[in-house]
Amino acid sequence: MAMGTSTERGGAKGKKVNNLTAANDPEKVIKIAGSITVDELAQALGLSVTTLIGELFKNGIVATINQRLDFETAEIMIDELGIANVRLERKNTATKTSDQRRELSEKAVARPPVVAVMGHVDHGKTSLLDNLLKKKTVESEAGGITQHISAYQLEHDDRKITFLDTPGHEAFAAIRQHGAMLTDIVVIVVAADDGVKPQTVEAIKFAQGANAKIIVAINKIDREGADVARTMADLSQHGLQPEEWGGDVIMIPVSAKTGEGLGKLLDAILLVADVEELKADVEIPAEGLVIESHMEVGKGSVVNLLVTGGELKVGEFVTAGNTYGKIRTMLDFQGRPKGKATPSTPVTVTGFKELPNFGDRFLEQKDEKTARKVALLNAQSEANAAASANVTSTDLLRMMSSADNAKVFNVIIKGDVLGSVTSVVDSLKLIDTHGEVNLNIVATGVGDVTENDVYMAAGDNTVIYGFNVSVPVNISKLAARDNVEIRNYRVIYELLDDAKTEMEKLLGEEIVETEQGEMKVMGVFRSTKTEIIAGGKMTSGKLEPGMLARLKHGKETFGEVEVESVQKERIDAKELIENEVGGLALKTEKKMTLEVGDRLEFFTREYKQRKL
Ligand code: GDP
Repeated sequence: MAMGTSTERGGAKGKKVNNLTAANDPEKVIKIAGSITVDELAQALGLSVTTLIGELFKNGIVATINQRLDFETAEIMIDELGIANVRLERKNTATKTSDQRRELSEKAVARPPVVAVMGHVDHGKTSLLDNLLKKKTVESEAGGITQHISAYQLEHDDRKITFLDTPGHEAFAAIRQHGAMLTDIVVIVVAADDGVKPQTVEAIKFAQGANAKIIVAINKIDREGADVARTMADLSQHGLQPEEWGGDVIMIPVSAKTGEGLGKLLDAILLVADVEELKADVEIPAEGLVIESHMEVGKGSVVNLLVTGGELKVGEFVTAGNTYGKIRTMLDFQGRPKGKATPSTPVTVTGFKELPNFGDRFLEQKDEKTARKVALLNAQSEANAAASANVTSTDLLRMMSSADNAKVFNVIIKGDVLGSVTSVVDSLKLIDTHGEVNLNIVATGVGDVTENDVYMAAGDNTVIYGFNVSVPVNISKLAARDNVEIRNYRVIYELLDDAKTEMEKLLGEEIVETEQGEMKVMGVFRSTKTEIIAGGKMTSGKLEPGMLARLKHGKETFGEVEVESVQKERIDAKELIENEVGGLALKTEKKMTLEVGDRLEFFTREYKQRKL
């Protein structure tokens, strides 16, 4: 296997490199945000650039000094070089973003808290938000799972609170990460009759990673099996100590169904907001983040923004990533027209020339010319980054293992909005194939499956995955003609399961052997080229006709045969179990000498589809 050869090579190189880095140097940590240039990595490793470029070349990567390598590639290269005393660490981008929050001026004013509601699927996030906002959307979601970030505002005690409704299933890690970056307070919903679950733990980690304050809503207290104290104990096992028990996390028992405790929950949110002294500058150009974007017939790009600073007004020019536009219309979360939006306000706007990316920062620009220029510059630097061919670990692994014919799974992803495309792509990448199947994302895009997608997929065994999109009839026909698979899903984890099954098919089958029992041979009655008839005592397990047997003389295995039949007291039997004495017929293909005192190890062998 290519990795094997590379270890060998890495070992040899290791010696050379360790001379350069002094074998007993203390461990050195290199922090990387997303990627690192060849030059920077060489410097950090204390190598000459040419040495590193040479190593990359051996791994099939023709790199220049300014080429960017992603985290995983850099890690693989360090491993390849056999450098033991250097460790890569990811810079925490979530914290980076919160650090990036603007330094506030003296003039900063109080702003509403931005609250994300997170928790395990079915613990009641949607119901809780619905009850708070008195609207009913639970039924309308595919698979009952919230699939985009939506933002709402409500008033409590004449003060505003902004809620981000972040998707619940683990597959939405990507969206949630973006949600967490915006978030001041995370309300973690835990069902009192179910306790802490994997996504509860994940939500706790997200909140901590994003430096957000945590409030726990212990939900479903109206239910019979609800146990608030046990849920608190569960939470304290995961590092959240309830205030009641002398800790610092507010935990409010609530029922999203009856509404009990919801007032207290809102009180707690405002209390935490006060302690945190949340503020924003309003006398600066408007800025914030894109939290959703999609195309609508007749409106063009429809973009949800959350303002984090300044005041955004209709008619202003803004940039977001490499696109820009003039705010044509602006609506609040209930669809009512709004002239301006202050910090912590979510709004839906139209007017962007193209769809900005979910998670992009938007910035007000003074006029159209400046906006166009900034967008162009952003586009250019993006293109440069792409042209300097950010080598990704997927590329590297593909190149390393091409000799092994590592399997490739080609996909095209189409989604209704950018957020879902990002989520699908990120989640697909998270499927661990142990380096045996390379996921090749041929193309991604927002909108229905098109003729072009089918052409791209044809002939290359590419599956087109649609997420919340339509497949026009003529396109289905085209796909059928060209033998292209289009699979359309409305629930992301069904899509992911399908992709996983496809990748498993590429892995093929594996042999699974299961030990069944052992016999000590007490007599050999007949031994020919094709058959052995023997008798013995079962020392463990069981024996059934059809099992396989390993013939053992001491530690040595001298044959493997099939058990044709089993006898107990000279009558054919279905099985022999531990301590029973009986006979058996073994089917052989050549003469084998089985002796009294030898052992027979019985086992079964199955061919199973390999799983990931
Ligand atoms: P989500 O997946 O976390 O958004 O959970 P949902 O809000 O969709 O709720 C899942 C299920 O639990 C639904 O059938 C709700 O009606 C139910 N549910 C949510 N909150 C409560 C509650 O406080 N009491 C009871 N009895 N049922 C609840």
